[in-house]
Amino acid sequence: MNRKRFIYSLVFLFTVILVFIDTILTEEASGHYPFIWSLALIPIIYIINMYPKWKVIIGSGVFYSFLKYTTEFSQKINPSNSEINALILGSLINWSIALTMGYFIIKSHKLFLKVEELTIIDSLTGAYNRRYLELFMEKSIPISKRTNSSLVFMMVDIDHFKKVNDNYGHQCGDQALKHTSSIINNNVRNTGVFVRFGGEEFAVILPNTDVAEGLIIAERIREAVEKSEFIYKSERIHFTISIGVSIYNGENVEEFIEKSDSALYKAKENGRNQIAIN
Ligand code: GH3
Ligand code: MG
Ligand code: MG
Repeated sequence: MNRKRFIYSLVFLFTVILVFIDTILTEEASGHYPFIWSLALIPIIYIINMYPKWKVIIGSGVFYSFLKYTTEFSQKINPSNSEINALILGSLINWSIALTMGYFIIKSHKLFLKVEELTIIDSLTGAYNRRYLELFMEKSIPISKRTNSSLVFMMVDIDHFKKVNDNYGHQCGDQALKHTSSIINNNVRNTGVFVRFGGEEFAVILPNTDVAEGLIIAERIREAVEKSEFIYKSERIHFTISIGVSIYNGENVEEFIEKSDSALYKAKENGRNQIAIN
């Protein structure tokens, strides 16, 4: 059962139970039991946990308030003032509990999203990190197998990056990493995802992409870096990248990455600033 259907079933069940209990109690004791409506807090809190949004809180609160008043007034045509007061007081208490719970649930959900973001984003370049790559590959490999669609993986490595650091300093190296990251981003953002794999290496995953398209994109990135104007302290610093490309062919994640890695090794061996395929 999917999440939405489960929620709808739960709300429906609670709604029926509440109306049922309220009717039974009213008949049995010929009185009103407005406190029974506090049970509505259970599905409301459950729903807020699943969809931590103010409009969901207000919406479910309004729904249960409406249900409460129509049920109560349909059972007693002329309720006394004290009965009406008890109903209103009960509503105010329930609304205060729902809003307070909602506030804290939304706050902790925002914190959760922030922490989640921190665990998958590389702080220097703002690109996804290796952890995200693993999560992404875990999802995209089965999809690729199921739909029989091709999947390209690229390993991108800056050539002689140590020299950039040695000649211009680590700060400059960091800026060069950001610069490279933004070039890769500009070239793949519509077709796939890219991550900072580690150090001066980036990985690009292109779902629904065949070798020919993969090679075109790789060449576009390589050329863009080679021709780019990277200026640090008013000096233009020239550097290049090498790319290893591979296409998915039934292997596991590690083997797939390894394939691109050996292609990258080939590109380095052949003289850098080029693409190799494996
Ligand atoms: P190759 O062409 O064979 O890849 O040579 P390379 O110099 O790029 O490779 P090597 O692995 O020898 O050096 C990588 C360098 O990347 C060494 C390390 O100091 C630098 N590096 C890794 N991470 C960072 C970083 O976050 N910032 C900076 N500034 N440098 C980094
Ligand atoms: Mg490297
Ligand atoms: Mg390198």
